[in-house]
Amino acid sequence: MPDAIGTAERPLRVAIFGSGPAGFYACEELLKQDAVRATVDLFDRLPTPYGLVRGGVAPDHQKIKSVIRLYERTAGREGFRFFGNVSFGGDLTLEDVLAHYHLVLFSTGAETDRRMGIPGEDLAGSFPATEFVGWYNGHPDYRHLEFDLSAESVAVVGIGNVAMDVTRILARPLKELAQTDIADYALDALSRSRVRTIYLLGRRGPAQAAFTNPEIRELTQIEGCDLVLRPRDLELNELDREWLASVKEPTYQRNVDILAAHATKGEGSQERKIRAWFFASPLEVLGGSRVEGLRLERNVLVKDERGNLRAKGTGESEEIPVQLVFRSIGYKGVALPGLPFDERGGVIPNADGRVLDAPGGKPLPRVYVAGWIKRGPSGVIGTNKPDAIATVERMLEDVPGLQAPAELHSEPEALPALLSSRGVRFVTFADWKRLDALEVERGQKLGKPRDKFTRVEDMLKALD
Ligand code: NAP
Repeated sequence: MPDAIGTAERPLRVAIFGSGPAGFYACEELLKQDAVRATVDLFDRLPTPYGLVRGGVAPDHQKIKSVIRLYERTAGREGFRFFGNVSFGGDLTLEDVLAHYHLVLFSTGAETDRRMGIPGEDLAGSFPATEFVGWYNGHPDYRHLEFDLSAESVAVVGIGNVAMDVTRILARPLKELAQTDIADYALDALSRSRVRTIYLLGRRGPAQAAFTNPEIRELTQIEGCDLVLRPRDLELNELDREWLASVKEPTYQRNVDILAAHATKGEGSQERKIRAWFFASPLEVLGGSRVEGLRLERNVLVKDERGNLRAKGTGESEEIPVQLVFRSIGYKGVALPGLPFDERGGVIPNADGRVLDAPGGKPLPRVYVAGWIKRGPSGVIGTNKPDAIATVERMLEDVPGLQAPAELHSEPEALPALLSSRGVRFVTFADWKRLDALEVERGQKLGKPRDKFTRVEDMLKALD
């Protein structure tokens, strides 16, 4: 009779794919258990860990990135290993993983973006905000992109916090961005920026905005830039008032108050303008081969059959001249090879983290999800903690009845040996710490928190 799984003699072996917040919180929860002894191998397709904390959080929001210190503490726990530069589906298949681990968890986030579904969306100069974000953050997948910042007017569609980030990066003085860890090529391109007007377009009203209070307040305080509002957008109607009274979350009322107080400032006198327009939906991106404008429809708020407030077009339209469009209307998960996928929801179908063979289907034994690929792209970094803990609870509940294959290659060296036999140059956490120190050292010389490596080959070369 073999030892039970989860003891010192026979630890629970877990693989986690995706080293963003959800992946790290799941590691922490697994490794801190007293009753169950677990080891966790955390994989990432990049040589660098931390997912959107490194590649998504805006470079001028360094404080948010201090959460990394918690993840470093997790990485210091006994039983933790990092394997960077390993792609799921390329270097390792689901079959490989299930042959080496008792359980596997995917926390791969939401790697693509939602589409507006309007004519002209794919014209040159129309981009998903996710690409711009990856570009200015030095993500290797996006560093090759070119954004023509000779544009004088830019539209950012959507008014969530990603739209706030994109708008701020376009609007902030260069000298302030130069002190951040923004990618060097992005800083260079922004130094030549001729952007004067940024239209920030919300399809519903200020009371329904998805941005949060500090983020909208920041837009009111950018040096050299006015946030300009249209007074008629700020008039609340009966539906707004009813809705604001019904939501418990004070963020919405505060957003309204911040905007109402700011609206009195009018046009302002700064050279750059952020023109935040509410009740405006793009109907068409205009232009021949490149973006030349955006046709917008004026909306009104209506209550749908489920009681939600929706934007409804009035038929009244207008055109604005813009040469760049960033759609910032939400991220979307991508399917993983060999795993079921819910195309509509952009998530892996699951019941509280247990992966199902189809939406509403049967559990797929030993496979779990956490974070945005589990619940969709919502919430802040900390939201992933209870989310990951809930999944780990399900995993631990399943351990007693676990049907692991008898021939499981659970010896710790089996997986690295497999990767090496396939010629995969994996990056350990110690390797990453060397890269980290190099980036910080390079940054110090430039007066920045770090100067990022933005090419995988440069990262690997630096480690040789
Ligand atoms: P989000 O918060 O879901 O916002 C999406 C925005 O797009 C909403 O304003 C939404 O309007 C709008 N939208 C959706 N479909 C549209 C369409 N067809 N036409 C026009 N507008 C459309 O998404 P996100 O900004 O990508 O952020 C994702 C998550 O990351 C959020 O939870 C966010 O708070 C978080 N985040 C946080 C920070 C931070 O804490 N500083 C920074 C970045 C991201 P409706 O409301 O009308 O649907």
